[in-house]
Amino acid sequence: MLMPAPEQDIIAQRLDLIAALRRIVPGEGVIADETSLRAFECDGLTAYRQLPLVAVLPSNVQQVAEVMKLCNARGVKIVPRGAGTSLSGGALPLADGVLLGLGKFNKVLDIDWDNRCAVVQPGVTNLGITRAVEHRGFYYAPDPSSQIACTIGGNVAENSGGVHCLKYGLTTNNILGVEMVLMNGDIVRLGGKHLDAEGYDLMGIICGSEGLLGVITEVTVRILPKPTTQRAVLAGFPTSESAGNCVARIIASGIIPGGMEMMDRPAIHAAEDFVHAGYPRDVEALLIIELDGPPAEVDDLLLRVKDIAERCGSVSLRVSQNEDERLAFWAGRKAAFPAVGRISPDYLCMDGTIPRKTLPLVLTRMGQLSEKYGLRVANVFHAGDGNLHPLILYDANNPGELARAEEFGADILRLCVEVGGVLTGEHGVGVEKRDLMPAMFSEADLAQQMRVKCAFDPNHRLNPGKVFPVLHRCAELGRMHVHKGQLAFPDLPRF
Ligand SMILES: Cc1cc2nc3c(=O)[nH]c(=O)nc-3n(C[C@H](O)[C@H](O)[C@H](O)COP(=O)(O)OP(=O)(O)OC[C@H]3O[C@@H](n4cnc5c(N)ncnc54)[C@H](O)[C@@H]3O)c2cc1C
Repeated sequence: MLMPAPEQDIIAQRLDLIAALRRIVPGEGVIADETSLRAFECDGLTAYRQLPLVAVLPSNVQQVAEVMKLCNARGVKIVPRGAGTSLSGGALPLADGVLLGLGKFNKVLDIDWDNRCAVVQPGVTNLGITRAVEHRGFYYAPDPSSQIACTIGGNVAENSGGVHCLKYGLTTNNILGVEMVLMNGDIVRLGGKHLDAEGYDLMGIICGSEGLLGVITEVTVRILPKPTTQRAVLAGFPTSESAGNCVARIIASGIIPGGMEMMDRPAIHAAEDFVHAGYPRDVEALLIIELDGPPAEVDDLLLRVKDIAERCGSVSLRVSQNEDERLAFWAGRKAAFPAVGRISPDYLCMDGTIPRKTLPLVLTRMGQLSEKYGLRVANVFHAGDGNLHPLILYDANNPGELARAEEFGADILRLCVEVGGVLTGEHGVGVEKRDLMPAMFSEADLAQQMRVKCAFDPNHRLNPGKVFPVLHRCAELGRMHVHKGQLAFPDLPRF
C-alpha cells in the first residue's frame, strides 16, 4: 500500500509550523513529541502505521478554522480524526501532515424534544448520544459495534451502520444537519433541525466523505422513541446456506426485523468463549433476529419468524425472555471482533456488501479462497442488508502473511462486486480499498467523484491518499484511463 511521498519542504518547516499552531491552540492542544504522537500513529486498521508531523487538538470551531487556514496557506495536509476506530485506515496520519483530533469537541449542545433531535459536537461518542436522551425514553438508532468509543463525527464521515440499521437506516438516514470547516477556513452549515433542505443534497455528499471534504464540527441527529418491546431470537442452522435462505425468506415475507445478524462457526465459538452469551456450539451458522414494536405486534412477528426458521431447517431456536437475556444475545455479536482477536494474533476485517440471495455462493467461494491462501476466516454479517464482515486471521510475525491476507481480502471484495454487490458496506474505503476502486467504478465514475472532491478541496490537502486510487491535480481530471476496471500500468507507483 503506497501513500503519497512526503513533501520534504513541509517536513523541513516542522518547528515553525508547530510554533504557529501553538499560537492558535495554546496549552496542551499541540502535540509534537514522539512518544505522545505514537497514540495517533494508526487507527483500527493497525497493519498500517505512520507518525503524523504534528497533532493538534482544538477545542472550538474558530481554532479549527484558523488551523485549516494556516495549513491551507502553507500547503500542509490535514488528516481529521475522531476516536481512531476506523477499520479502513481513514484516519491514518501522514508524515508531512497535521493530524486534527476532534476529541475535545465532546459536548451535547442541545436536546430538542419537540423536534426530536439533538445537536452534538463531533467528538461525542455514538453511545453518548443515546445516554444523553435515554432518561426520556429516546435513543440514537445507528449502533456500530464500536459505539462505546467511536464518535458521531467519525460516524458521519464513514456513514456508519450497525445491527439496527436494517430497519432504522444508516447514519445518513439519521442526521439532519452539520457544521463543517472547509480547507480554506470557511465555516459552512448544511441542513438543520428542519426535515427538508433546499438546493443540492450536500448532506448526502458529506455523509460518507471520509474526511476528504471538510472537518465536521457539529452534528444535528434525529432521536427516536425507544420501541416499547424488543425481543431477540437465536436460531441455529446446520449450514450457512440454510441460514442465508432463512434471512431471504424473512425479508421476502414482508418482515423487517430491528436487526438480523449472522455468524459462522468460528465466530460463534470465539464469541461464546469470550462473552458466554449462550450461543449453541453445535451449529454451522447462527442468526440473531430482533423484533421490536408494540407487544402484540412483536408476539405475532415472533410466531411468524419461528415458523420460517423451522421451515428453513433451523436446529435450535431460543427467544429472549427478558431484557438481560436479549442484551446477552447481542453482547456476543457486539464483541465478535475482539473475540476473534483472542484466537489469532492479527486479523483483517473486510467489509463488502452483496445481494442477499448470493450469500451461499459467496460463502462457498470464500471457503475455497481460504484454502487457496492457507488462512482461516471467521464470518460476521449484517445479514439483513447483505453486509459481510469476513475476518481474515493471520500472524504479522510470519513473513509474507500480511501480504497474503491482503490479497485474500482483495479477492473477497472483487467477488462482492462480481456478484452484483459493492466494495464497502459501512467501514469506508480509506486506504484499505482505495486501490480496488477501479474494480467497481469506471474512469468516468471516478472522475466525477473527484470533481466533487475538487469543488471542496481543490489542492487535495484534506486527507489525501485515501479513497481515490490516483492523486492528480484537479485540472487533469478525465485524463486518467481505466480500461475494463484496470488502471493502465497498474504496477507503477501512483503517488
Ligand atoms: C471493534 C470495532 C467494531 C466496529 N464496528 C462497526 C460497525 O458495527 N459498524 C460500522 O459502521 N463501523 C464499525 N467500526 C468502524 C468504526 O468504528 C467506524 O467507522 C466509526 O464511525 C469511526 O469513528 P471514529 O470516531 O473512530 O473515526 P476515526 O477512525 O477517527 O475516523 C474515521 C474517518 O472519519 C474521518 N473523520 C473523523 N472525524 C471527523 C470529523 N469530525 N470531520 C471530518 N472527518 C472526520 C477521518 O478522517 C477518517 O477518514 C468498528 C470498529 C471497531 C474497531
